[in-house]
Amino acid sequence: MTGQIDAKCRLCRREGRKLFLKGSRCFSAKCPIERKGAIPPGQHGFKSMRRKVSVFGQQLREKQKVKRIYGIREAQFRKIFNLAARDPSATGAKLLQLLETRLDNVVYRLGFAASRSAARQLVRHGHILVNGKKVSIPSFQVKVKDKISLSPAGAKIKDVEANLAESQKRDLPTWLKRQKTKGQVVRLPQRQELDSDINEQLIVEFYSR
Ligand code: SF4
Repeated sequence: MTGQIDAKCRLCRREGRKLFLKGSRCFSAKCPIERKGAIPPGQHGFKSMRRKVSVFGQQLREKQKVKRIYGIREAQFRKIFNLAARDPSATGAKLLQLLETRLDNVVYRLGFAASRSAARQLVRHGHILVNGKKVSIPSFQVKVKDKISLSPAGAKIKDVEANLAESQKRDLPTWLKRQKTKGQVVRLPQRQELDSDINEQLIVEFYSR
């Protein structure tokens, strides 16, 4: 278990920023990036920070970073990118919008789970309802006006109760609203409301090579 936990922090160090993969620990002083900074993992981690990165390297890193933030594998990520590319709006912004509106991400954003991986578990275990019906597919795309809620059994899970209490201290994205164990998508998220530290154009260039 410890190895697995450390492995998540290594991903953050590799990407040079916090990816928030471990729930409440990420918001505490225990986060290794808070303590030591974002030094790449490995024996030569510090030296590798000074190495010049090629354009391809930058594109690849950006793609990997976003995949890791949302916890998505390559095939699924590529599929979402292809969907975004078919949309008439800007591909990069659409890609981020599609990632944000995945059910697992919305469950995380609503504060029902401490991390996206925990949110995925909640969804897979049937604890999440969309418009009153159980949906157990983490990649399910939510739409405007969709109501997302915890099942009665899900709302009684100790970790979920703790997350709900903790999440009251953090801002809810303005495209969502929440009341206790119920949330709703008010509108689709706009690019300026999403992670400003992502350069989605590099991802578009990576897949357009
Ligand atoms: Fe670990 Fe910090 Fe990354 Fe969270 S944000 S996974 S605690 S390095």
